[in-house]
Amino acid sequence: MARYEAVIGLEVHAQLQTLTKAFCPCSTQFGAPPNSNTCPVCLGLPGALPVLNEKALGLALRASLAINAKIQEKSRFARKNYFYPDLPKGYQISMYELPLALDGWLEIEVEGVKKRIGITRLHMEDDAGKSLHEGFPDSDRWSYIDLNRCGVPLIEIVSEPDLRTPAEAYAYLNTLKQILEYTEVSDCNMEEGSLRCDANVSVRLRGAPKFGTKAEVKNLNSFRYLAHALEYEIERQIGVLESGGTITQETRLWNVAGGRTEPMRSKEMAHDYRYFPDPDLLPVTVSARMIEEIRAAMPELPDAKVARFVKDYGITPYDAGVLTSTRALANYFEGTVKAGAPAKSAANWIAGELLRRLKDAGKEIADSPMAPSALAGLLATVEKGEITAASGKKVFAQMFDSGKSAADIIAAEGLAQISDTGAIEKIARAVLEKNPDNLAKYRSGNEGVFKFFVGQVIRETRGQANPQLVNEILKKVLAGD
Ligand code: ADP
Ligand code: ZN
Ligand code: MG
Repeated sequence: MARYEAVIGLEVHAQLQTLTKAFCPCSTQFGAPPNSNTCPVCLGLPGALPVLNEKALGLALRASLAINAKIQEKSRFARKNYFYPDLPKGYQISMYELPLALDGWLEIEVEGVKKRIGITRLHMEDDAGKSLHEGFPDSDRWSYIDLNRCGVPLIEIVSEPDLRTPAEAYAYLNTLKQILEYTEVSDCNMEEGSLRCDANVSVRLRGAPKFGTKAEVKNLNSFRYLAHALEYEIERQIGVLESGGTITQETRLWNVAGGRTEPMRSKEMAHDYRYFPDPDLLPVTVSARMIEEIRAAMPELPDAKVARFVKDYGITPYDAGVLTSTRALANYFEGTVKAGAPAKSAANWIAGELLRRLKDAGKEIADSPMAPSALAGLLATVEKGEITAASGKKVFAQMFDSGKSAADIIAAEGLAQISDTGAIEKIARAVLEKNPDNLAKYRSGNEGVFKFFVGQVIRETRGQANPQLVNEILKKVLAGD
């Protein structure tokens, strides 16, 4: 395998976050009763005329800018003709020779190495319906058609063949997803099919001047499938070449249960689709002013947010990267700071405790049982020294589980930090008395034992003693004895 190199290009479909469909006023609501969100336009009834959804165009333009692509002044919808039961019009409305935007790029990072991935084009199209082959009465004899998804607006983003490993493909899809979510272009919900990915893969001997023949793998609807399918397909192609065979250009399917790619059909060519301009739709003209308006309304992108967090909050680029991984998490962090928490400790607690507990509970930040203001309340008590950092973690856990405030838990549990010098001194003396061997070691010059004593005293107070006071008092007691 070391002698070979893979070449990968991704075609990503994202559903635009609009309330209504691309060319008719039907709702895009997911999970509505079958065939309830339909009308003559999306059912492809004769004589019905499509009208472009302006909101969909706006989102597609926003996505184009976010991936650094050049919006074309003139683009045009085309009919991509093919027969399928879930496609009542007999064609998909897409863009062909004049797409909405060309020549963009994204920066990805894999193991600390940054790389720019070219994007060939972005175009708009409409979705097909769904054929359902299981889970219904008589599924062994009948297939069912649900046309609710027919005409839902999509964008397709086609990358250049710049990716070289499954890890790069994974990072590319992840970066793209993050940008589309940030800009609210798409909710990118992969389970509901709002983000779908086809992967084109070929292999060649390292250093070979030309690309090999590619296969296109469809049905990659999760990050895991993408990585597994690519690994499988790369190995398969190398195997074919090593045994003297040739790769056929074809479309393959990822078989989830079998963990392998399988031939689906020989590759269709563009001319098979008999593309032609859709005579029912006007060409799309985008003025410079429109582009400026879209640019002005563009939400902050992930990279810009990372830079701002580092600069404004003085946190590390690493923490900034973690905290901006989703817009919801970034908002949570900023909400905590706004509620009065020091930025650095907010960053530490959110990136550490909060994310760990959310992960363990299988929850997203949106379902956090702790509001930003509640976390800020806890951090303030730690900051002021009212409780120790160790108690802080205990309180955090209880707040997370019960939704109670920090103050209530501290009062109920008697966790307020012990700053009573008399009490600490008493415990310090008891600890020394209980550990004569270590005391002797200390006396004979082993200063390392001091830390042990500090630890013991804090333990005796169940983590509530003020560590700085414990240090001072222990020093005093040891010096005086
Ligand atoms: P087609 O016309 O067969 O659909 P395209 O040129 O439109 O091919 O490319 C489709 C996708 O395949 C793009 O993402 C592109 O980057 C990728 N691609 C093109 N050639 C190769 C290759 N030899 N190996 C891997 N991917 C490729
Ligand atoms: Zn409709
Ligand atoms: Mg193509």
